Amino acid sequence: MSVSAASEIDSLLDVSARLGSEQLLVQAGTGNTSLKLNGVLWIKASGTWLAHARRDEIFIPVNLQETRNRIDRGVDPAGQTVQVGAKELGTSVETAMHAVLPHRVVLHVHSVATIAWAVREDGPFGLARLLDGIPWKWIPYVASGLPLAHAVQSAIRNQPETKVLVLANHGLVVCGEDCGSAELLLREVEQRVATPPRRAMEPGWAQLARLTEAAWRIPPSMPIHAMSTDPVSRRIVCGGILYPCQAIFLTVQARRFGPDVLPGELSGVDEPFVLIEGVGTLVRQKPNPTESATLAGLALVLQRIPENAPLRYLRHDQVGDLLCADVYHYRERVEDNGAGHLAVRPELSLAPSER
Ligand SMILES: [Zn+2]
Repeated sequence: MSVSAASEIDSLLDVSARLGSEQLLVQAGTGNTSLKLNGVLWIKASGTWLAHARRDEIFIPVNLQETRNRIDRGVDPAGQTVQVGAKELGTSVETAMHAVLPHRVVLHVHSVATIAWAVREDGPFGLARLLDGIPWKWIPYVASGLPLAHAVQSAIRNQPETKVLVLANHGLVVCGEDCGSAELLLREVEQRVATPPRRAMEPGWAQLARLTEAAWRIPPSMPIHAMSTDPVSRRIVCGGILYPCQAIFLTVQARRFGPDVLPGELSGVDEPFVLIEGVGTLVRQKPNPTESATLAGLALVLQRIPENAPLRYLRHDQVGDLLCADVYHYRERVEDNGAGHLAVRPELSLAPSER
């Protein structure tokens, strides 16, 4: 590999680790980055964590032209494996979207601020105002893989200068010719779409403590408690599934209990978290970094959706499609790669602005 190619790969590792460590951009194994270099698409492998870009092998090299040919033939390039060092890595379901984009660098994140807009029926109108001057497109929700790649292809067919895609009920994609310019644009989009989080009441700590038995514990994250103490967040999360990770890593239906619930009533609950109305949120005793990061991300999104925003939840059939047999393997890979990851950074979770 030439010196300049090596330094481009180095920039990709840098930007990936940086974005992956920001809870407002990436939660657990979500998000992916890629670089097209000398006919090779270097893309984050399925189930790996961007945050670990400097620690683990997370990038898989695939032949770009072959990948594009597969997509043209209607074959999803996901699920190909390559031996990278001691590890076997596989291409993810989002490989097709990266391959069809003409730009050399593609950064895809599950940005909390963008998702808070991307779940709204009026998202395209609000974002048109906020992103004025940036070449961007709204992509209505479709499943990741070939459907998303085809939707992106047709959206940019006549506007190849498009550099920003807002994926409805999913996240943000930012493109550029190198990592530096793509990250700069991503930061600008983030700044423009940022919404201050809604404040929530202090949790009822004493009452929560009375409910923690063997199975449950009190999470340290204030936004997670806001899902229970803020009536707007609570109503929205109980209304349905806003985006795929919510269903894949958490639950298809949030469990809500009244403030007078007794410890015994929580004993048969299977979900990774329960909402105690007006009191706070309890999570499973056994820490699971993937669930914790996904739950914190969901809570941060909910705090940024205004009370009267018209929402578009995923339909039952769309949720059903997400929960196919393969998703369990994907979930397993993300959880395996997250073993030992610090679930929620206390300094962020306790930031006064998030209270
Ligand atoms: Zn995604």
